[in-house]
Amino acid sequence: MHEFSIMQSTLETAAQKMSVAGATQIHRLSVRIGQLSGVVPEALRFAFDALKTGSPAAGAELAIEEIPAVCWCADCAAEFATADLKYECPRCHQPSGDLRRGKEMELTSLEVS
Ligand SMILES: [Zn+2]
Repeated sequence: MHEFSIMQSTLETAAQKMSVAGATQIHRLSVRIGQLSGVVPEALRFAFDALKTGSPAAGAELAIEEIPAVCWCADCAAEFATADLKYECPRCHQPSGDLRRGKEMELTSLEVS
């Protein structure tokens, strides 16, 4: 379950930002997860609950924003949502090699004090 190592490094990043800010507690972490990032939100939440104990994030809330996968079709000059890994444009049925969103895995905001 790689969500544990992802959450581990997310918490480390959060702890660094916290001490840079001169704070001692993390209240809220917001992360963005792309549909194609390979990260399962439920597993990430589970990892967070397991790892936060005894850390500055012990009382923190985890907010997960899921980003749908979106491709760009140059022929149609349009973005389209893709549900699978074929990236096929629904208008012209050409496969798109240009994935615009959906692979994110990042810490987007942090509330500390
Ligand atoms: Zn198209």
